[in-house]
Amino acid sequence: MAYQALYRVWRSQRFDDVIGQQAITQTLKNAITQNQISHAYLFTGPRGTGKTSAAKILAKAVNCPNSQDGEPCNECEICRSITEGTQEDVVEIDAASNNGVEEIRQLRERANYAPTQAQYKVYIIDEVHMLSTGAFNALLKTLEEPKKNVVFILATTEPHKIPATIISRTQRFDFKRIATKDIVEHLAYILEKSEIDFADEALNVIAQAAEGGMRDSLSILDQAISFSNGTITLQDALEVTGSLTYDMMDRFITACKQKNTADCLQLLDEMLASGKEARRLLENLLVYCRDLLIYQKAPQLLAEKAQHFTETFKQSATEISAQQIYDWIYILNETQNEIRFTTSPRIYLEVAVVKLAEETTSESTPADSFSSTDSQEIAQLKEQVTELQKEVSQLKKQSEQTQPQAQVQTQQNKEKKPAATQYRVPKKRVFKVLQEATKKELANVKDVWEDLLASLSVTQKAMLRASQPKAASPNGLVIAFDYEIICKKAANDQDFILAVQNNISRMISGYAPDLVYITNESWPVLRQEFLSGQDEPAEESEFAEAEETENEETDEKKEDLVVSKAQDLFGELATIKED
Ligand SMILES: [Zn+2]
Repeated sequence: MAYQALYRVWRSQRFDDVIGQQAITQTLKNAITQNQISHAYLFTGPRGTGKTSAAKILAKAVNCPNSQDGEPCNECEICRSITEGTQEDVVEIDAASNNGVEEIRQLRERANYAPTQAQYKVYIIDEVHMLSTGAFNALLKTLEEPKKNVVFILATTEPHKIPATIISRTQRFDFKRIATKDIVEHLAYILEKSEIDFADEALNVIAQAAEGGMRDSLSILDQAISFSNGTITLQDALEVTGSLTYDMMDRFITACKQKNTADCLQLLDEMLASGKEARRLLENLLVYCRDLLIYQKAPQLLAEKAQHFTETFKQSATEISAQQIYDWIYILNETQNEIRFTTSPRIYLEVAVVKLAEETTSESTPADSFSSTDSQEIAQLKEQVTELQKEVSQLKKQSEQTQPQAQVQTQQNKEKKPAATQYRVPKKRVFKVLQEATKKELANVKDVWEDLLASLSVTQKAMLRASQPKAASPNGLVIAFDYEIICKKAANDQDFILAVQNNISRMISGYAPDLVYITNESWPVLRQEFLSGQDEPAEESEFAEAEETENEETDEKKEDLVVSKAQDLFGELATIKED
């Protein structure tokens, strides 16, 4: 006999076999025994929760001459023909492939004839939300003039796409996601019947991966059976579902705990290389962290899982502070949201990994963290004071003029600064590069950028991947990082700086630039400030001689100068932001 997928072999044939939907199946059984059959049903719910199975059982139960307590006998000719799909009075339509008006019109015509063999003509329309508007209207007409002995069963995963006029004419049943426990029980039952050995925890992993769908659970179980060597182990289930193994998570969380960023990134690379999917990976780590927390606070809640916890896990649970775990959960959760709509989750994962390994707030003693934030704040305040003093003296100098545009911009830039980053952007060094920057030099760097990435180690690559070259001079290169945390790390990592420098000079002969790291956020501000400053001498003399009425014109001229200078430096794409 040819191999048959588990979900076909084990499709429920009786209401009592439908897993996890007792309220619904009981109501349907009662309706049948009391002979109160509605002419239209709507079955809604996530995929694989038993809608179509229940529809076919209902079709049998209303027609089976031997039906008992609302259940079909599954043995009479009618029951068997419905199971096999050969009963012409029970029509199954997949709206996903038949969404035309014509099909529904034909259906209406056919529905006018009395059933030939069975007692009821039953139309099962699967994925009914896929019907076209015209088809819905035709269906509505049919439902508006209910025929005796005709039953419609509409099934859908997306009830919100069904017109209210249709819904109001049906008896609605909402199928729920099946509880993990119920799925596990059913899988265990099937495996016992099939005489296949298994580890309990393997079934848990499968049920969780299927997210409450029985059909998906059975498909995964199918894969696990063919993957395994006779016994379905936890390892098999983890492999088949693309979940992280406990060993992987242990190693990863240990590396995070030790703040070993390089190891963390290396492990991430391994996980992705072995085909782990980004979403599942984050989910697994979240569950692991949650388990750590619960194990700390209320281990009795994890009694079922307890036998699978490794020594490393238990040790981590005692060593890592709750606050640290909260921080990790926050980062993982945030990343989960970020990767929802991206096609390249890798970069987000890498940033998350750096954050996980760097998060230091809770590990340092309160006194330490206090003094370090203190000194940082003081440094920032000092910088602000110096800048404000400069500004005041400039303002005094220009007090007789109407306020020039450049000044307003500088002020706005200043306001932004404290909030922006903790990384201190080396403004002087940036300006030095900009002073001598050329388009050609930048183009050279951009040309070799991909090769440069390829030449670096995993950790270094991950850091540089979140950055772009912004300006290049014969002696300097400004690199802007998407994330402040990586910028800071890059600026303090001598190996990284050397590797980038060496590889660049290997790729562009004779080019050994001083690397200047900035955050992407600071770039527009720096550029604007530099460009405004460039024209200051000319601007001052012009202002000094200009009449007030000519100020506007001067501003325009100045803007033109700024734009052309910008184009010289950064190429055609350069735009001057008005912020
Ligand atoms: Zn029967």
